[in-house]
Amino acid sequence: MKKKFNLKEKIQQFRAWQERPREVAPMSTEEHECLNCQDHYTGNYCPRCGQAANTDRLSMKVAAENFAEAYGMGERGMFRTILDLILRPGHLILDYLRGKRVSYFAPFKMYFLLAAVSLLVTHGLNITGHALHDDSENVTEEVRQEKGAKKTSNTSGTSEENASAKELSVTVDEEGVHSSFEENHPMKSRINSILYGAMDKIERFSQKYPSINILLLLMLISGNLFLFFRHSPNIPDLRYPELFISLVYIANMYTVYSIVFDFFSLTKLTSYALFLTIIPLKQISGYSWWRTILKTVVAFTIMLVLFIVFIVLAVLGVGLFVKYHG
Ligand SMILES: [Zn+2]
Repeated sequence: MKKKFNLKEKIQQFRAWQERPREVAPMSTEEHECLNCQDHYTGNYCPRCGQAANTDRLSMKVAAENFAEAYGMGERGMFRTILDLILRPGHLILDYLRGKRVSYFAPFKMYFLLAAVSLLVTHGLNITGHALHDDSENVTEEVRQEKGAKKTSNTSGTSEENASAKELSVTVDEEGVHSSFEENHPMKSRINSILYGAMDKIERFSQKYPSINILLLLMLISGNLFLFFRHSPNIPDLRYPELFISLVYIANMYTVYSIVFDFFSLTKLTSYALFLTIIPLKQISGYSWWRTILKTVVAFTIMLVLFIVFIVLAVLGVGLFVKYHG
């Protein structure tokens, strides 16, 4: 009984911590003399030239910091921001939108750094030592077969079906719209093969470039998300650019997870991590969990339907063109 009460209390404390904005440490009243312009002042930076008060003599540490700075990692905010992206992603974003900018690593800069790390991981810098996708030339035949076996066991269809689907996509890759079913239903099979090929390509792309994949997905859905989240309890007058920046941070959150999972070759978990994007959306908006999930699912479904309609129309158009002019 007592233990349960403590757990509840701990959860409440954690929630309160999550929601509390980042505090900036109080400024010291110590007086400094600027080493650059000899001005006397209190504070962290010289008000005249901007040099930091804690300018030390050059040491290995200072040199290392200087080196890291050249690669955009010098700011102390990087690791704090990563930690916040895992523990309180939505509240970090709220802080940022409400003006606490310097406390956090800038969203786009962070995105490009994480995307670079993610690329290294999916292309071989992981525990398997191989690229995580199966169309790379670096992959050995052994890994290729292993992956094939895994794929077969995961799909509900038989291995023959799987093989034919694979064959289909291969033919699409090589010859465009030809497939083995062509004699029976030329149009239907063409549409099928193109859809199979497109799905296969999307899957491989998302495995190779998880960070680009998540950002593209979020940008595609951003218009619909804006419709459903622009009058939320926490931000009653959300602007589109604010949503855009929020989505970049959410992509960063996903990329952090994908780097960790991909490093340990847990590519299934990388796909499931997509669902974690609900957490920051809930925290930013202040809607209930169910409301957030419902709104996100509807926004996603609308996007998916539009996407499929677009593809089918495009394929039909090409099919008709080929039929009457080809
Ligand atoms: Zn100065």
